[in-house]
Amino acid sequence: MPTSKPRGRQFFANPGPTNIPDSVLRAMDRPSVDFMDPDFVEVYDEAFAGVKRVLRTTQHLFMYNASGHGAWEASLTNLLSPGETILVLETGFFSDQWAEMGIGHGLTVRTLEADRRMGIDLAALRTALAADTAGEIKAVCAVHNETATGLMLPVDQIRAVIDATGHPALFLVDTISSLGSLDFRMDEWKIDCVVGGSQKGLMLPTGMSFTGVSDKGMAAHANARLKRHYFDWTMMAKRPQKSFIGTLPVNIFYGLRESIRLLEDEGLDNVIARHSRLAEATRRAVKVWAGNNGPQLYCLNPTRYSDSVTTILMPEGHDAEAIRKTARYRFNVSLGGGLGALGGKVFRIGHLGDLNEPMLLGALTSVEMALRINNVPHGKGGVDAAMDYLAS
Ligand code: PLP
Repeated sequence: MPTSKPRGRQFFANPGPTNIPDSVLRAMDRPSVDFMDPDFVEVYDEAFAGVKRVLRTTQHLFMYNASGHGAWEASLTNLLSPGETILVLETGFFSDQWAEMGIGHGLTVRTLEADRRMGIDLAALRTALAADTAGEIKAVCAVHNETATGLMLPVDQIRAVIDATGHPALFLVDTISSLGSLDFRMDEWKIDCVVGGSQKGLMLPTGMSFTGVSDKGMAAHANARLKRHYFDWTMMAKRPQKSFIGTLPVNIFYGLRESIRLLEDEGLDNVIARHSRLAEATRRAVKVWAGNNGPQLYCLNPTRYSDSVTTILMPEGHDAEAIRKTARYRFNVSLGGGLGALGGKVFRIGHLGDLNEPMLLGALTSVEMALRINNVPHGKGGVDAAMDYLAS
């Protein structure tokens, strides 16, 4: 534990919330305004249209004063009826939580099980959908980027499997730790409901979430009977803003307009390429540390490595929390911890949002030092490998 407060700016390598750019902080730093004021409505409209561009959709959008869980709840309750079946594709902690929420709302939840270090088998998905000749499965739910394990699912390939079987299920995708970081295309991938949040790739404080909804999703909504009120899309669509019930989080909207400006100024494709570069540098470091029976990548499927978060599995008998504590209290670097059953076994390096090479290298260097300080066996030279890659 610290004896004095660490100096200098904290390096935040957490997979959410993420760093908030200074210009976003400045944009939000303003007195309250009436959310019906025409000046604010202009900001709202610009931000709203911007979120649709980032989702790559021209369809419907509903936004909430809630963290991602609120948008999860909106997605299920607006689209489904009591007792209906959803098929959740197992990825890890967050697919479990979404499934649990479904059970809590009286849905029948089937899980397409997976080796969590590899991700689902697409052939098994095909078999499950093809076997459902009665069309019991009303929705397929996929977490695009499993923040707990650092594994990304190929949403386009999942779409292709659904299409190949001709199954009519709605396709729901959680993009909470992928939007604004990884390639994501709501309309092209025919996603019926996208769940997103403010505090990751959009580089904002936590507390605002949203769902993009397809026309097919809106048609299903018309018949969906699960109980809802605050998150009801029909009620929202009647509001002047066509979204939001209650007082709008006005300051977040000033920030959102600015964060979208930043993303578009860099160019979405360049943002994705930056995330991919930083992620690969991180993985190269971890692969070196894995020598000498050291910590290793949790994800074992190279085609599904996440470009927004890397989860690192500690060698048997070594506590991931010790690494996090050293990083946090000795070097002022915040890393993500293990969630659920992975608590103490893994730590996570978030490399999404407002991040550049030196910020990442600062975090990687601190991890390498923390491994030494805690006498964790590892291969030496991980940071060198990351630098070699970033400098190439
Ligand atoms: N889904 C994913 C993939 C997440 O990473 C998170 C949070 O980290 C959530 C859902 C839940 O969102 P929130 O914590 O904002 O409620």
